[in-house]
Amino acid sequence: MCTDLKLVVRCQDDVGQDLCCLCARPCELVTVRISLCDDDASRGYVCQECLEAGPRRAAARVRRRARETRSLVRRGRRFFPPRLRQWIPEIICDYANYLETLAGRVEKMTSWVPAKL
Ligand SMILES: [Zn+2]
Repeated sequence: MCTDLKLVVRCQDDVGQDLCCLCARPCELVTVRISLCDDDASRGYVCQECLEAGPRRAAARVRRRARETRSLVRRGRRFFPPRLRQWIPEIICDYANYLETLAGRVEKMTSWVPAKL
């Protein structure tokens, strides 16, 4: 599969916090931040730990997130409202599949050096 993912440097005046688009852990947003772009669409910001991990280990973090997401089906089934029990697991599995696909694409990234916009 061809990967069109790239890291992009963004400079913004506001600071704050978001969740990393790879590992879903809290990500401090400073004035200079790195986002993951799929073609030209931003998928979200990347935390410092994922940046330092590099593509292979960052992909492993995404896969761990996929496993944790998938485990919600098993662990959370009893908490799903009865009338939603059929489709919630399907949505969760679709999301976990998306994460596994993302992990595969991140792992194949040949450049981990952010480009300036
Ligand atoms: Zn992260």
